[in-house]
Amino acid sequence: MKRTQIALADGRELIYFDERDDAVRDQPDRRDLPPPPPASQLRYDPLTDEWVAVAVHRQTRTFLPPADQCPLCPSRGERHSEIPAPGYDVVVFENRFPSLSQRVADEPAEITPFTPVRPARGRCEVVCFTDDHTASFARLSPQRVRTVLDVLADRTTALSALPGVEQVFPFENRGVEIGVTLHHPHGQIYAYPFVTPRTRTMLAAARRYADRTGGNLYADVLAAERATGERVVTSNEHWTAYVPAAARWPFEVHVAPHRPVPDIPALDDAERDAFGPLYLDLLRRFDGLFDLPMPYIAAWHQAPVRIDRELGHLHLQLFSIRRARDKLKYLAGSESGMGVFINDIAPERAADLLRTA
Ligand SMILES: [Zn+2]
Repeated sequence: MKRTQIALADGRELIYFDERDDAVRDQPDRRDLPPPPPASQLRYDPLTDEWVAVAVHRQTRTFLPPADQCPLCPSRGERHSEIPAPGYDVVVFENRFPSLSQRVADEPAEITPFTPVRPARGRCEVVCFTDDHTASFARLSPQRVRTVLDVLADRTTALSALPGVEQVFPFENRGVEIGVTLHHPHGQIYAYPFVTPRTRTMLAAARRYADRTGGNLYADVLAAERATGERVVTSNEHWTAYVPAAARWPFEVHVAPHRPVPDIPALDDAERDAFGPLYLDLLRRFDGLFDLPMPYIAAWHQAPVRIDRELGHLHLQLFSIRRARDKLKYLAGSESGMGVFINDIAPERAADLLRTA
């Protein structure tokens, strides 16, 4: 893989990751861009002990542009996009409208004595999986998935080294039903200046289990799922994809490596090669459930950068809000108000439907 780093017209970083070592990426960004906005505010919610990013400048971001104005397509002729080259394999660049960035502005120290404020220091990156506007992740080649995994490893290592970053979260939102604002196949990476609430909860559970039994909670749960096999959708030598026994979403699958590793950079060559074929098969099963492109979120759970790394266990959480051909699952009163999920599809049935899709 060849790595070429350039600066866009407004100073943001862009990195080409090419599968061919002889790729030349020397096209300059010819656009006239205003400077990127400063970091958002992080406001502390004392009632829940959580941080909220308040990003006023993001309201102006590009929303579902027509295909001929796609900012993630390569630049061709007089049409200049975010990517100056006329073609690419995988590209990563800093989001033009980031929730988190290193461009820290002066902020008030607090809203009230209960609500401290700090700059949303971190980083938001966009990962373009292909220069083909009409493709989808499920239709990438296994080789390209391997490249994407290597890119996520590169970015996890690089973002973990940025000042103040505590957790790196790669993810893909797919489908307008999820709130996707650009159709071009792409993912994102958020580098947070704190350990996220979801991860804190999972680490606390893992710590209690380790104190009580000496074991690794995620590894033992995975072993139990593999032993019963009832909710396993597919597996190979290095990975298992299973519906969690207490799945929250109508269709939810965890894809976990058999060897407990904290994050993507810790995956070895054989594990990285084995991921693509299994994940592509799983995504095609998702699309096959209702013979419709399935809206989904694919969320990589990685251990935090600095703390509790031994308690983390890398896994990908893939889930959809579609529960029937013409029905979506909305987060309503119980889920949004109280955080209690009501799942209309039994996890065993979801696993069965995915196995036969
Ligand atoms: Zn495009």
